[in-house]
Amino acid sequence: MRLETIGISGAVKRLASWTKPVGRVVLDILLPPRCAACPQEIAEDAGLCPACWATMPFIEHPVCHRFGTPFTHEIGVAALSPRAIAEPPEFDRCRSACLYQGPAKDLVHALKFSRRRELADPMGRWMARAGRELLGEAALLVPVPLHRVRLIKRQFNQSADLARAIARHGGGEYQPEVLRRVKNTRPQVGLTAKQRQKNIRGAFVVPPEQRGLIAGRRVVLVDDVFTTGSTVEACARVLLRQGAVCVDVLTFAVASDWLET
Ligand SMILES: [Zn+2]
Repeated sequence: MRLETIGISGAVKRLASWTKPVGRVVLDILLPPRCAACPQEIAEDAGLCPACWATMPFIEHPVCHRFGTPFTHEIGVAALSPRAIAEPPEFDRCRSACLYQGPAKDLVHALKFSRRRELADPMGRWMARAGRELLGEAALLVPVPLHRVRLIKRQFNQSADLARAIARHGGGEYQPEVLRRVKNTRPQVGLTAKQRQKNIRGAFVVPPEQRGLIAGRRVVLVDDVFTTGSTVEACARVLLRQGAVCVDVLTFAVASDWLET
């Protein structure tokens, strides 16, 4: 009886290993994989077509040591942009995989609004590469949270999906409960600096049961796009007040109006 059971389970396993690729082939015929950023059919799922790949605005070094925005020419190790000197942020360093334009913008929209959650994996892989100097075993990966009303509406937090993918590809400890958004803020874009600060004030808290987790730890905040920076600044302020030793930021894209010259 026991041998028979092993025999059946072995046969099922073998069948599964044959049917998986067959199923995949059938699926690819019915639903051919498409480029993550445009409708072009491609050979491999969750990849980019050659045209989108060629125009992906990946950020390459040299970059501003604080904001991670690209410089047009090499100006030395740990160089700072004029903005980083004039308005030093609450966080230590920010790194982004690409500029928020072209196919990168399409990817962010596809993940967030078309619920293409499978895109978080390649996007997280590129983020892990861009943020390799921030990651490591000791870092806590904390996604910028959504307010529960927005979470119910969207059904998932794209930043949490990205943080999970970064942990998988680049290391770090995924901790999605460290920050809670207690205020359902309106979008920051279009507001003045003063209005942004007022809008975001008191929006984030570290719940009491999470405080022991961040005391003395390095935190890497994860978000999809760095636009004005006021959201991650507000998060960093709360985390530092609650005992984090250092807060860095890792985003998929950074708005191109922060381009340094
Ligand atoms: Zn494409």
